[in-house]
Amino acid sequence: MKAKLDELRKRLDHFSARSDLTVEQIAWGHCIEEAILAGEQGNYSVGALVTDSKFRILGRGRNAVFKPKFRSEAHAEMIAISAVETAASVVDKNNLILFSTLEPCLMCTARILLSGIGQAVFLKRDPTAGICDRLHMLPPNYQDLAKRVQFHEYNNDLELKEISSELYKIGEELWSREYGL
Ligand SMILES: [Zn+2]
Repeated sequence: MKAKLDELRKRLDHFSARSDLTVEQIAWGHCIEEAILAGEQGNYSVGALVTDSKFRILGRGRNAVFKPKFRSEAHAEMIAISAVETAASVVDKNNLILFSTLEPCLMCTARILLSGIGQAVFLKRDPTAGICDRLHMLPPNYQDLAKRVQFHEYNNDLELKEISSELYKIGEELWSREYGL
């Protein structure tokens, strides 16, 4: 696992060194950095950010469920949203964007809906725990909130997509081991 993460860190360094990156791509680089750090710290390799509409980073998060102490709520998205809510009162939450290297899970999707964030973008679909295609199965109040949020997959950079797919594989190995599935 360490060798795989080292390789992904090299790929990220290579990506970040490019001179043609947009502000949005640079933000994705920071999001992946958080995911790699999560993996290096013994946690599921997911990273998240909350940005404003110009992709300025307001909050960061990385998964911290298993280490140093088990915390079931410590998903990357939850931590990034809490960072923003703790730091300052944002007037127009609808303009905020949640970035995540992986499609949000049930818990994080509920949190996104409750937070008032207007957009959630992710790099990798999660076929086993993602909920973005299953929003119609939420209870009615949550379905109403979901009408205010745009969820979408980011498809504009192949290298980012590939790195996030590798991070997902590493994370799934850890998940199976830790939850005994
Ligand atoms: Zn989650």
